[in-house]
Amino acid sequence: MEVLCEVANCVYNLEGEKCGASEISIISEVGKTASSQQETDCQTFEPQEN
Ligand code: SF4
Repeated sequence: MEVLCEVANCVYNLEGEKCGASEISIISEVGKTASSQQETDCQTFEPQEN
């Protein structure tokens, strides 16, 4: 599965706004369900050094 992601400063982000991680973990900020996109977060995100 291809994951498109626009978080350009993540170490896993590739050209073309794609995620290059072999696996990603997504959580809900509000428990086990979510009612909007804003309530979800990528836990695999790692900021680039610079
Ligand atoms: S790990 Fe998460 S934040 Fe980073 S490129 Fe992949 S989907 Fe985006």
